[in-house]
Amino acid sequence: MVRENEVRRNEVMVKRASAEHADAQLEFIGVIHTPWTSRLECPRQGRADGPVCEIEIFEPWIPALAGIEKYARYEVLYWLHQSRRDLVLQSPANDGQVRGTFALRSPVRPNPIGTSIAELVSATGGILKVRGLDCLDGTPLVDLKPDRTIFVPIAPPQKGDFQTG
Ligand code: SAM
Repeated sequence: MVRENEVRRNEVMVKRASAEHADAQLEFIGVIHTPWTSRLECPRQGRADGPVCEIEIFEPWIPALAGIEKYARYEVLYWLHQSRRDLVLQSPANDGQVRGTFALRSPVRPNPIGTSIAELVSATGGILKVRGLDCLDGTPLVDLKPDRTIFVPIAPPQKGDFQTG
């Protein structure tokens, strides 16, 4: 069942760690535009036949999209900014049965990073149209990478690749 910010029966909340463990300093590189404005209506996982959504990349990162059309699918990492971050045990079905946060794909986690595999529909300037997302409108974008299952590593030059005349 979708959660707003409540703590359910048998769930366990902790006091979050001190600054000593906090150093990521993420830079949001864009924002995701989707049709969903409430967690109650947002899909639990994106689907390849879901609606076309927009990923807007901010400057100065637009040039980092060079070559984006090379791959049909991307791993999209985003910051589930409305999530609480202090539950170690959760009850996703709200039935009192609990499981550890790291055994779940719940948006409620100490570092609320969501990931989806998105199909690239088009790329124009700093705007990507994609399918396969499951996040709220306005969700901050953390990173984009080609889907690892189709990515072809760029090999270092091998001996004999260059003619030296
Ligand atoms: N596909 C991602 C993953 O597996 O890492 C996210 C899965 S999570 C179960 C998706 C749910 O997170 C949505 O159904 C919605 O309830 C919630 N959600 C989406 N965007 C959010 C946001 N910006 N802040 C907090 N919760 C969000």
